[in-house]
Amino acid sequence: MKKILPVVALVLLVCCTPALAGRAEKLAALEQRITSYTLNPEYKDDAHALAVVKGALESIREGSGGIGACLVDTSTGEIVEYGRNRQFSPHFRSDLHAEMDLLNRYEDRVKKFRENAETGENPRDCKNLVLVTSVEPCPMCLTRIINSGIKTVLYVVEDREGGMATRLDSLPPFWREFAADREFRPADCSAELRQMALDLFDFSSRSFAKNRVKK
Ligand SMILES: [Zn+2]
Repeated sequence: MKKILPVVALVLLVCCTPALAGRAEKLAALEQRITSYTLNPEYKDDAHALAVVKGALESIREGSGGIGACLVDTSTGEIVEYGRNRQFSPHFRSDLHAEMDLLNRYEDRVKKFRENAETGENPRDCKNLVLVTSVEPCPMCLTRIINSGIKTVLYVVEDREGGMATRLDSLPPFWREFAADREFRPADCSAELRQMALDLFDFSSRSFAKNRVKK
């Protein structure tokens, strides 16, 4: 047995090294496309789409999924919070999709409390905040976003197989009604940024979902 182990290690090294090198090259090429991208003034959400794409790249670099998200205050156009997928770094957290991470950070920072008729406080009052994500939210994130009170969500690229924003009619009745005044739509950004968001998502996504067809 002891003699076999070094042989197995050598075979693994020979087989895996080209694949890992190919992956590193692919990621470097993706990074080059992102860092050299110039914002296109024809698209009003280009800057925010680029910001979430950069977050997605950072997540992959850390070993997590390639999705980034941010909260934009539409009264100023400023990004007030960043989030990104942290499912596998520093340790496995099944809840830490980019949108969940983003809302955790926002809610932990602003610390709102339950409705108060006297003061008119409402924790779900998110005023001018718009959530931007690099990929259409999954069912978990979509219901969390609805519960948070955020009214508008922009996604850079659709997730035809796992996205829920394009399937609102399939929500349970309570959630469908809760979501009635919400808006989920594609971000107004360039085709290049959409392709980057898709490539980053595909780079890391769902290795456990064997039947997923990569486009
Ligand atoms: Zn999600």
